[in-house]
Amino acid sequence: MAIFITDECINCGACEPECPNTAIYEGGAEWELAGKAYGEGDAAPTGASEFWSADFFYIVPDKCTECETFHDEPQCAAVCPVDCCLPDPKHVESKDELHAKVKYLDEIGR
Ligand code: SF4
Ligand code: SF4
Repeated sequence: MAIFITDECINCGACEPECPNTAIYEGGAEWELAGKAYGEGDAAPTGASEFWSADFFYIVPDKCTECETFHDEPQCAAVCPVDCCLPDPKHVESKDELHAKVKYLDEIGR
């Protein structure tokens, strides 16, 4: 399942450079997938929505693979000083689905 950032985020920025998929963006920033930019109100290609935040860092569910194939554990959660990177119950995925997402991102670009 994808990870999401709760409103406990203190905007320290520690998680963003750790993400192997560039799935983490600063609050208010546009996000990118395969060279296309998305902003407030845009749903992800899979239909995921309501993850964008103006106020604190956010994770794009289409790009989060729980760090599968890169690390043993989600790196954002490992470095977050306030433990606000949590499994997202709205985006539950099996290991096979996460690995398929890694392959998809490998092919289209992150
Ligand atoms: S779990 Fe890994 S892939 Fe997902 S947002 Fe955190 S660092 Fe990025
Ligand atoms: S490491 Fe945690 S507190 Fe810092 S920006 Fe990321 S989610 Fe927010």
